[in-house]
Amino acid sequence: MREKLEKDCQLSTLTLAQRQKSQDGTEKFLFELSDKNTIETVYIPSDDRTTLCISTQVGCRMGCKFCLTAKQGLVRHLASSEIVSQVLEVQKQVDQRITNIVMMGMGEPLDNYEAVIDAIKILESPLGLQFSQRKITVSTVGLVPEILRFGKDSDVNLAISLNAPNDEIRNQIMPMNKKVPLKELFEACRAYPLKKNRRLTFEYVLLGGINDGLEHAKELARHIKGIRCKINLIPFNEHPKGPFKRPSDETVLAFQNTLISHNITALVRKSRGRDILAACGQLVSQHYTEKYLTLGWRPLGQRPLH
Ligand code: SF4
Repeated sequence: MREKLEKDCQLSTLTLAQRQKSQDGTEKFLFELSDKNTIETVYIPSDDRTTLCISTQVGCRMGCKFCLTAKQGLVRHLASSEIVSQVLEVQKQVDQRITNIVMMGMGEPLDNYEAVIDAIKILESPLGLQFSQRKITVSTVGLVPEILRFGKDSDVNLAISLNAPNDEIRNQIMPMNKKVPLKELFEACRAYPLKKNRRLTFEYVLLGGINDGLEHAKELARHIKGIRCKINLIPFNEHPKGPFKRPSDETVLAFQNTLISHNITALVRKSRGRDILAACGQLVSQHYTEKYLTLGWRPLGQRPLH
């Protein structure tokens, strides 16, 4: 048995390379993998829950313009053990049981489909980490064949990172939209096999002057009419290297109220961990540029989507 295990199985361990704590209690962990690549994981404690935002790839090839991870391109997929190990390691580090998991860290989960499905099985298993399906959320930019497949293979929550009310804007900020336009995405959302009492989540990052107008909110409301869903509005986290701006609080409120007036549940999400670059769209494998120069590997950002 020992020989067989040694030959066929690999125990994946993550090495903690860095840990940073925000003023608001959010913590960012930089883990080194066995091949020296690094990923980030974000621990977000609040009054009634402890949420962990985990990564599914080293880098990402979706190319979203507002995201720092995108600049790295895809380096490689994570193995299911590396996805699950983030939960085990952070639990150990913070000495707390994680209650909720969101796959919204580095990478597009549905681009690493098999490993993500296996990781969910381990997270849910009575012999594994025993998470309820309601406590796990997978976020996708909208890979349509994979969304429909995912609806059959898993019962966890699904969030769609939407960020635009029409193809014109979405093509500019999320280049993968040129391959899967909004019409196709919304059709997949309508066909998604939602369980009773469950709804899809749409994530909408508000970029000042780009997608945050009242006309955009109205257009969005028209598109998602009839889809059982809620919308999380996320005011953009400005970072010095990016061209995008955070909208004013008044603009965010007006956008939210317009959606609500169309009978859509719209929540404004508080940004957490902004002072340690742990907020949405700010995760990146630190030092990747140095590695690229010293080890000679290159990011695979130019690979096609499918
Ligand atoms: S926002 Fe998500 S899907 Fe888009 S590039 Fe960043 S990590 Fe990838």
